[in-house]
Amino acid sequence: MTPSTPAPIVWTPHGGATEQRNVWQAMKRGMRCRCPRCGEGKLFRAFLKTADHCSECGQDFTGHRADDLPAYLVIVIVGHIVVPIALSIETNFAPPVALQLAMYLPLTLAASLLLLQPVKGAVVGLQWAFRMHGFDDQNPER
Ligand SMILES: [Zn+2]
Repeated sequence: MTPSTPAPIVWTPHGGATEQRNVWQAMKRGMRCRCPRCGEGKLFRAFLKTADHCSECGQDFTGHRADDLPAYLVIVIVGHIVVPIALSIETNFAPPVALQLAMYLPLTLAASLLLLQPVKGAVVGLQWAFRMHGFDDQNPER
């Protein structure tokens, strides 16, 4: 049996020394639409509506402020996928405009819808890991 190592301690502006939260692990859990704290409970109760709290560990999700950041990130990601494909096809094959619209519009819509929930989950995980907004349980204002 190996002895468990205690979690690293970090300083926070409101609570002083407290347990460190792993940013990448929290973002990965959020991308899988799971609670950034335990990785088990569901993060969303609808497509883009976060649950009020984790069903497994009780983490309160009402303090997140993802706002428009997930949408902006999805625009950047999908744009960097669709635009090079469109430029490459136009340069090499020059298909009719109607055919291009029939390819790129559904591709853009599908990619955006598929990425929106995981990206929002990652943003919520990032906010939780950095104790942003309502995720700082040591904040006296909460
Ligand atoms: Zn949880």
